[in-house]
Amino acid sequence: MTIYAAHVVDTPGDPFTGDPAAALAEDGALLVRDGVIRARGSLAALRAAHPDEPVTRLDGGLLVPGFVDTHVHFPQIRAIGGMGLPLLDWLERYALPEESKLAEQAYARAVAAEFLDGLVASGTTSALVFGSHFAPAMDELFAAAGQRGLNITSGLVLSDRELRPDLLTSPETALAESADLILRWHDRGRLRYAVTPRFSLSTSDEMLDACAQLLGKDVWFTSHLNENLAEIATVTRLFPGSQHYLDTYCKHGLVTARSVFAHNVHPDDAELTLLAEHGASIAHCPSSNGALGSGLFPLRRHVEHGVRVALGTDVGAGSGPFLPKEALQAYFMQQLLGPAGLSLTPVHLLYLATRAGARAIGLEDRVGDLAVGKDFDAVWLRPTGNSTLAVNLRHARDTTDALARIFALATPADVAGVWLRGDAVAGPGPR
Ligand SMILES: [Zn+2]
Repeated sequence: MTIYAAHVVDTPGDPFTGDPAAALAEDGALLVRDGVIRARGSLAALRAAHPDEPVTRLDGGLLVPGFVDTHVHFPQIRAIGGMGLPLLDWLERYALPEESKLAEQAYARAVAAEFLDGLVASGTTSALVFGSHFAPAMDELFAAAGQRGLNITSGLVLSDRELRPDLLTSPETALAESADLILRWHDRGRLRYAVTPRFSLSTSDEMLDACAQLLGKDVWFTSHLNENLAEIATVTRLFPGSQHYLDTYCKHGLVTARSVFAHNVHPDDAELTLLAEHGASIAHCPSSNGALGSGLFPLRRHVEHGVRVALGTDVGAGSGPFLPKEALQAYFMQQLLGPAGLSLTPVHLLYLATRAGARAIGLEDRVGDLAVGKDFDAVWLRPTGNSTLAVNLRHARDTTDALARIFALATPADVAGVWLRGDAVAGPGPR
């Protein structure tokens, strides 16, 4: 057992359904045994109750829950920074040529290690990962994630039209390869499987039917939705009988409480109603939306319809795996929307980067906050020396203000420690 003495801050409440200030909680210490939080309170109280336990002091900064990224592409970690193109041109020019390289297993192994190490260094401890088009590359990702102890949900990406030929497969092969991956990786430790058609633009009705057959195995589902106007126009042309983009998935039974759709920048009200009815979640990826010029995410309409929203970095269209930066971009986007936007507080930002993601991917009983009984997946954010963030934290009026300074200024260099189920995988060390 270890007592961690730290400024513990999390959001066990939901700031979107009540007073944001009431969603925040803070304490001075956690007692951790076998990777699980057993007690929480003031340092004095925990020491009095457990006088023989060693104390690890995490002085300065904040100890927050590990971040939860609900949309990030593992094969694109080497393809960040492609500027100046909208979605479909960006895919063709930057993303898909890189994804093709993962056909070679040794290449995929190296990329998987770089990708997962990037998540850990950014304080991300759980992620819904958009996979590769190649099954051996998925074996590499799952094996490497299992070794590191990360909470990873991912799956083979499926397409049978519109993309470059080397990324296409048939529904029959997709079924066989996916079923095999599910058998070997789903529910193994902290790994789970997600059926992953790239987007309905690149998947026929036959392929989406195959996806529905795989869902019967109690796995997760993820794809893209309403990202860009040219994409939506193409989907409308390819599915002339569908009422809207979401219907292309819905008519195959692919919209459920285990479904997470990335983007949804341009939904109509009927789609928002359906998403809420089925309990599906949206992964909001503001950096990517800005980089590709996709649009300003209508968060207020999602919240008003009761649709769950979490954050995704959408690497490589997004600008890196550090989720607090994504939360800051979400804040910027809502400010730019003016009266149509939903002005986000620092408490909203912490919630979006942690508990909202855990809820979206069904892990809220295990991670997303630092309550007693949860896994000790945590990030210690403590700035170096006299950095601008350090200066600002010294002048923060209260915890919420400190959170605001962190979301405005923190970078991966401020990640002083990361724990996965109690194991320190980065830091902590004196600076
Ligand atoms: Zn994406």
